[in-house]
Amino acid sequence: MFDKILIANRGEIAVRIIRACREMGIRTVAICSTADKEALHAQLADETICIGPAASKDSYLNMERILSATLATGAQAIHPGFGFLSENSKFVRMCEKCNITFIGPSADIIDKMGDKSAARSTMMAAGVPVVPGTKEAVYDAKTGLTIAKEIGFPVMIKASAGGGGKGMRIAHTEEDFESSFDTAKMEAEKSFADGTMYIEKYIANPKHVEFQILADQHGNVIHLGERDCSIQRKHQKMIEEAPCAAISETLRKKMGQTAIKAAKAAGYYSAGTIEFLLDASNDFYFIEMNTRIQVEHPVTEMVTGIDLIKEQIRVAAGEKLRYTQEDVTIKGHAIECRINAEDPEKNFMPCPGKITDLHFPGGMGIRVESALYNGYTIPPFYDSMVVKLIVHDDNRELALKKMSSALGELIVQGVTTNLDFQYELIHDEGFQKGNTDTGFIERFMEKKADN
Ligand code: ADP
Repeated sequence: MFDKILIANRGEIAVRIIRACREMGIRTVAICSTADKEALHAQLADETICIGPAASKDSYLNMERILSATLATGAQAIHPGFGFLSENSKFVRMCEKCNITFIGPSADIIDKMGDKSAARSTMMAAGVPVVPGTKEAVYDAKTGLTIAKEIGFPVMIKASAGGGGKGMRIAHTEEDFESSFDTAKMEAEKSFADGTMYIEKYIANPKHVEFQILADQHGNVIHLGERDCSIQRKHQKMIEEAPCAAISETLRKKMGQTAIKAAKAAGYYSAGTIEFLLDASNDFYFIEMNTRIQVEHPVTEMVTGIDLIKEQIRVAAGEKLRYTQEDVTIKGHAIECRINAEDPEKNFMPCPGKITDLHFPGGMGIRVESALYNGYTIPPFYDSMVVKLIVHDDNRELALKKMSSALGELIVQGVTTNLDFQYELIHDEGFQKGNTDTGFIERFMEKKADN
């Protein structure tokens, strides 16, 4: 096992990893930007190195400096968290060259699965159902249109390098195809410096159901059940649940086996996620694999009792999985609400600033993942997610009651947040009944605007 790990991230996920390391007896090194010197992760780690200015490209994305910090502190491994360098194969190769263990899959696996168009091909070859669409990448609108006509409208135009809902546009008709394609491509070039696109059939109001995978370097692959992440705004998740209330035990088994087949086809190891869209007739389609720990991993931890960060670290150290598929049992129901410093009244504009009053709820089955503290100033340079509120109870109905109580108790003052929006959302009749799909928030907001 490692003696010391450097955490190449910030915010709640850095804090989450530091805590896991501490419990495992592993010393931690935090990195921070000049804007983050007062940040909780920088204060909690055993050592902290300021590696550059506020802009992510100069600090949390600065590969050379992160590697220098790792070598200078004698850390043997780097945990990348999510976002930043977590799915950057170039960085993983640089780690390998420096003899530093990257806590995640190999660079080759990231390459294979990180390019979404290439991942589709791998899955098709493995017999995993994918959304009907292109077999190969598309580079121009004209070729795209021919393919879109074959698929049939509406279609989804997506960036091969995409993530976080960026570089994705729906084209409803032949007429709006070209402008949608160009907009998506431009966004992809700007966000990922890569304008490679692909086209899929647009699935109307599906559920987003994803499977958590855990795999070691000895060929063992298991899944830890699914999460329902259908509550999304602009293709970004806001509430996640485990398990998905809408699927039968038979379908769960079938999807789980498919997820394992998908992970095996990629030669995967570490923690990872296979994402599917599930349509109204219970047909499911692979959309992508995330080769890192995800924001919503705690809901799976709550229902399985398995600490995913610790397992990820153990697997990276070469250990065998400590669980077989039979060992994994799903107990009760967990829900996560993402609390962001943003203003729902102003098109969810980020609202950084100083926390003047803070109170976290507690009690049985309530978990708060956050890097906030009283008097802390949220810097304007990074993601606006500031608290993950997670609850766990015997069933969905009880978990919803617990979430209602916990959201009601949570106080985050000094900045505007989406707390009230989340409160209204979970009390919506449709949400309470579990009638959710990826179009839910849009309909919810239209209903709100009408009232
Ligand atoms: P990203 O990597 O940017 O998160 P994904 O491929 O995971 O993109 O898709 C994000 C979300 O966009 C999905 O959860 C779903 O809501 C929507 N989406 C993606 N592809 C399709 C599709 N073919 N049809 C309908 N919705 C889609």
